[in-house]
Amino acid sequence: MKVAKFGGSSVASATQIEKVGNIIKTDSNRKFIVVSAPGKRNKKDFKITDMLIQIGNAFKNDEPYTEYMNIIVDRFSEIIEELQLPPSIVTDIEQSIHAVLKNDDEEAIKLDALKAIGEDSSAKILSAYLNEIGLQASYINPQEAGIIVSNEPGNAHILSESFSDIYALRKKDGILVIPGFFGYSKSGKLMTFSRGGSDITGSIIAAGVKAELYENFTDVDSVYKVNPNFVSNPKKITTLTYKEMRELSYAGFSVFHDEALIPAFRAQIPVCIKNTNKPDLPGTHIIAEKRSDEKCVVGIASDTGFSSLYVSKYLMNQEVGFGRKLLQIIEEEGVSFEHAPSGIDDLSVIIRQSKLTSEKENNIISRIKNELNPDMVAIQKDLAVIMVVGEGLMNTIGIAGKATAAFAEANVNIVMINQGSSEVSLMFGIEKEGLDRALQSLYIAFFE
Ligand code: ASP
Repeated sequence: MKVAKFGGSSVASATQIEKVGNIIKTDSNRKFIVVSAPGKRNKKDFKITDMLIQIGNAFKNDEPYTEYMNIIVDRFSEIIEELQLPPSIVTDIEQSIHAVLKNDDEEAIKLDALKAIGEDSSAKILSAYLNEIGLQASYINPQEAGIIVSNEPGNAHILSESFSDIYALRKKDGILVIPGFFGYSKSGKLMTFSRGGSDITGSIIAAGVKAELYENFTDVDSVYKVNPNFVSNPKKITTLTYKEMRELSYAGFSVFHDEALIPAFRAQIPVCIKNTNKPDLPGTHIIAEKRSDEKCVVGIASDTGFSSLYVSKYLMNQEVGFGRKLLQIIEEEGVSFEHAPSGIDDLSVIIRQSKLTSEKENNIISRIKNELNPDMVAIQKDLAVIMVVGEGLMNTIGIAGKATAAFAEANVNIVMINQGSSEVSLMFGIEKEGLDRALQSLYIAFFE
């Protein structure tokens, strides 16, 4: 039995939903189907989830929201009409939105219930369509499917007790269509995962039903060795391991939600990323173990928007508790950190800029000055991080040398290097201006 998840672009229009129908029809093992809300049909288009969020925000601020409602209604009407499904589906969607707006739940819960309407409607539409084309399919609500999550609106996490209930879905007849992106708390409140979280639902279902494969259908042929925005026509990755995918998606490989790998990884379910528009292509397989004959560097990921908090103090290495106190100050400001490369008398803490407001930054710096008495504390902004990723990298001689030579070739200064304890990646921090050049040079060095 397979779990197939279809992303926003795969259910964005009637034509796309017809392709999804064909894909499901061609393989009777595709029993569990998870869907996103309709996404963009072209670059200028709207995502239904964004429109639902706009409605929620406008309602909260007592502002008009008809414009957003019309976009949602028009999109679903078009889909329903072209697929020749009953028009009552659209009236039901409108009514669900109004019902959520009228209920007495607190803001965050209301917003989650609104956000979920996109996925929920997609699932109902797809299941109706599959029946129309002669398949036996039914819509299953995540509560009925057994997806029980933590009480964290907008950022829910699966509770482990869910998996045994999900396993029972195997006994149900026909194809089951489940909306992605949300589950229910123990007290029965709807909670969404973080944005892009339908991938997480797919992975949870795959782990729960112990699927033979989790297929994640999107709009790219495969995962590429480097972001195609920086290198034209980069080579494709045919197989990679869970660990490699985790490292790549951490630094900007947005094909797959980075939390989504966890359930599949724990249950050792292989994942395949495929293109709804070209379903016959092999796609990219994510598996537990690498074949020994494969090259050790599998891909190069990059992301911008990092800051480095640099602290230096003479004899830091002998001061017991210095690192803990520094990280505690950062923790008490509610900021998480990404990496912490260190020297004898200095420590840099790499933080995502989006998590560091100027108020938090000022508090952190003044507390470090007052409480830790450093010789120097400074923040360097606008750094980019490049990750050279591959299992086996740590046991292969010359990888770091090859990478640093590529930076030199591109005339890019390396601000920091972190090999640390990770078995699968080498991280470089650079100023973001050099990112294009560095990636192109690294790509040539490792893959051409
Ligand atoms: N529709 C949700 C979002 O836009 C979840 C998803 O598409 O995976 O974030």
